[in-house]
Amino acid sequence: MNAPAKTEDFAIKIPDGVYAETVLSVEHYTDHLFRFRMTRPAGFRFRSGEFAMIGLMVGEKPIYRAYSIASPAWDEELEFFSIKVPDGPLTSHLQAIKPGDTVLMRKKPTGTLVLDALTPGRRLYMFSTGTGIAPFASLIRDPDTYEKFEEVILTHTCRDVAELKYGFDLVDEIRNHEFLNEIVGDKLKHYATVTREDYPFQGRITTLIENGKLFADLGVPALDPEIDRGMICGSSAMLKDTKELLEKAGLTEGANNKPAEFVIERAFVG
Ligand SMILES: Cc1cc2nc3c(=O)[nH]c(=O)nc-3n(C[C@H](O)[C@H](O)[C@H](O)COP(=O)(O)OP(=O)(O)OC[C@H]3O[C@@H](n4cnc5c(N)ncnc54)[C@H](O)[C@@H]3O)c2cc1C
Repeated sequence: MNAPAKTEDFAIKIPDGVYAETVLSVEHYTDHLFRFRMTRPAGFRFRSGEFAMIGLMVGEKPIYRAYSIASPAWDEELEFFSIKVPDGPLTSHLQAIKPGDTVLMRKKPTGTLVLDALTPGRRLYMFSTGTGIAPFASLIRDPDTYEKFEEVILTHTCRDVAELKYGFDLVDEIRNHEFLNEIVGDKLKHYATVTREDYPFQGRITTLIENGKLFADLGVPALDPEIDRGMICGSSAMLKDTKELLEKAGLTEGANNKPAEFVIERAFVG
């Protein structure tokens, strides 16, 4: 494994349209998951929920992958929540980064998991599996989300309990944050489930929507297109199944140029 490069190692090679940022902190959650924070370029603007292409110089060549920006638009730093794919072209190197290392980022963020792509509603569901929680880590820390919605429900489903920790840390961070805690109040509900271990809340989110347990556990009525809005981020199969359930409930899919009742984004290609 090559050690990630420092900026001075390749300063003259950084291509146009790319920022070279400094890693500030790294936290490993499991053998498969970690988060890191890095400096935010002065001119870099994005909407909470968007993704950017981030990369590393591996040998002479940069390798880029799409990454949801997990920090909110107001944050002075950038945060990412990452998988570690064994032998993954990017993450086999990215998982070794340390404070002081350089991470590349292409200048133009994009994405559909943005508040602008939804029509007004009262309750916003964010359905995520695995690293699909990343765009919602941004949105649940953005005051705009709570200005637009009376209730925000973040669901996060993983195989094992240890994989849920990032989500619990996020909610704790909000609770301990002077201003955010006041803005969020009791509007945010975090619903975490696992599929492969004993845990009070178990099962795929699609099963829990279908059998109504999600709504019973949360004490909310079933999905209603007049009131509810949705954002989905997970594997291709999870997106397809969840999308079908939302459509069955009468919600229609929106996009940046055509806001509607729910939006989706793949958490990875595969
Ligand atoms: C819009 C978008 C946003 C993304 N945001 C994130 C993010 O915030 N965090 C993140 O870790 N990844 C994210 N990804 C996936 C990311 O782009 C890379 O695929 C991932 O970093 C692995 O890169 P790699 O080069 O090591 O392996 P790759 O060659 O890219 O992937 C190898 C295989 O690993 C599996 N895989 C890849 N990523 C994941 C994942 N996140 N969860 C489970 N299995 C995976 C897939 O089966 C894939 O075929 C996103 C992808 C897209 C399309």
